Amino acid sequence: MPASLSPSLNDDSDALFLGLDLSTQALKAVILDVSLQTVGEFGVRFDEDLPHFGTTSGVHLGVGGEVTSPVSMWVEALDLLLERITQTEHGRGLLRCVKAQHASVYWSATASAVLSSLDPTRPLSSQLAPTAFALSTSPNWQDSSTSRECRDLEAAILKLRRESPNVYEQTERISLVSSFLTTLFCADGEIKSLEESDACGMNLWNLETGQAWDPDLLRCVAGGDEGADELVRKLGPVEKDGGVAAGRIGDWFVKRYGMSEDCLVNHFTGDNNATILSFSLLPGELVVSLGTSDTILLSTTEYAPDPDSHVFSYPTNRAGGKRSFMAMLCYKNGSLPREYVRDRYANGRWDVFDELVAKAGNPSSSDEAALRPIGFYFLKKEIIPRGANGIFHFEGDSPSAVEEFEDPTFNARAVLESQFLSFRLRTTSMLSSTTGLPLRIFAVGGASANQGIKNTLATVLAAPVYQPAMSSANSCSVGGAMKAYWMYARRSQPELTFEAAVKLARRRQANSADPELVAAPFYEATLAYDAMMERFSELEKQTCNE
Ligand code: ADP
Repeated sequence: MPASLSPSLNDDSDALFLGLDLSTQALKAVILDVSLQTVGEFGVRFDEDLPHFGTTSGVHLGVGGEVTSPVSMWVEALDLLLERITQTEHGRGLLRCVKAQHASVYWSATASAVLSSLDPTRPLSSQLAPTAFALSTSPNWQDSSTSRECRDLEAAILKLRRESPNVYEQTERISLVSSFLTTLFCADGEIKSLEESDACGMNLWNLETGQAWDPDLLRCVAGGDEGADELVRKLGPVEKDGGVAAGRIGDWFVKRYGMSEDCLVNHFTGDNNATILSFSLLPGELVVSLGTSDTILLSTTEYAPDPDSHVFSYPTNRAGGKRSFMAMLCYKNGSLPREYVRDRYANGRWDVFDELVAKAGNPSSSDEAALRPIGFYFLKKEIIPRGANGIFHFEGDSPSAVEEFEDPTFNARAVLESQFLSFRLRTTSMLSSTTGLPLRIFAVGGASANQGIKNTLATVLAAPVYQPAMSSANSCSVGGAMKAYWMYARRSQPELTFEAAVKLARRRQANSADPELVAAPFYEATLAYDAMMERFSELEKQTCNE
């Protein structure tokens, strides 16, 4: 590290940051150094590494459609992961933080006592599993048995209260997986607070004020005023500052694995919340993940709820500071329609698909765009727009769908244009930029390998497309570790923002790799796409009524 670039953070240069990712199928870990370079990656896969739990893809399927995961499997996975980490040179992380999947954990009244008296000679699993949990399984977000109450975490609580009132009664505290892990790592007998950004996923938090649970929603889930007070007690406090320590690492970790007793534990957060942090987005920037499903994550300073998007408070807000938000759009029809068009019109080859995209080209003028063919490819019933299903082709200014385009090779361009016009339609109202257009797009996921796709994305959304210098399959755990780093940096500079801390850290890298510009918009065509927006939106509505 050149001395002149030494940031004024007074860090120990050997400090390490551990981020964990407890997902449905695996527990993964990443260790970063003070320049946020990855120095170690570890993982435990539930089906293969812990076969005695008998899970398939990390879950148990119940006869009634319940999808659950054994909480003790997660604890045992943590035991095994720590064994694996501490067998390596980098095994002694200083700080830690996490992302975690969307699920809840129900603690019993004895949990605090068990957590504050863990025996370092025995693994966590054998000590916690018998008594610390009121419910030995955690309902998974895939659980279709809760569909009546709408499949969310608040619905899981409602279902438990209705169907197993005894278990609900015996539940002392309810954690999200994030605060469950925070609690385990601190192991000081206190069930740790929920973290605001992840708590937003519960649909009980009043996101607009960011101050409290919504009383109407609480009453609805808890069955009246008295129940609402009880539920608030079970949910416990909410931490609104993403960059403070929840506590020190528990004695159990120090004694069993020789971890530093100075190690601080930052509040764990949700999975998408941590992923967005790994990009260190500025307001107005987008992450576009083009995979099996397409997901858009954006950072915004406006609270602009939209029925198609999920909005969360930003995971690195500071308590008392100006609040910002992250929004997420999830499309079911991502790769599936792109592959369908490739197979049907491009001999099953991406290079041929690309040639067709280039052959169709950008719209040359607004007049041309106003009559440009538009296709919709909802092979699976879509969520955005809700309920759209089927394939639709429209030519010229006719509102009636036709069987096929006059030039069927146009389908390659059309599938991309309709996906990206939909992104534009939805993100415009949510972005903080004055134009309603993104300032920068980060493209990730399998289809971001395709240049034709990236070029079209840049031009339709009128923004340069970048790819991260190091694309990591572990972006969730990396984001978690970066949040831990931010907490660490704020010890000496309490006002430091997450983004500024990341910038300073990265300057320590001798050959810091910045994100690479991979596609620039062709602005004249962007103007032509403007002329398509209204017709696109009208035709899209029509596909939902078919
Ligand atoms: P997942 O969402 O399941 O993690 P990935 O992000 O790995 O998936 O993306 C996988 C998808 O990437 C595949 O379904 C495939 O359609 C798509 N893909 C891979 N290579 C290309 C390419 N060259 N052009 C377009 N799409 C591609």
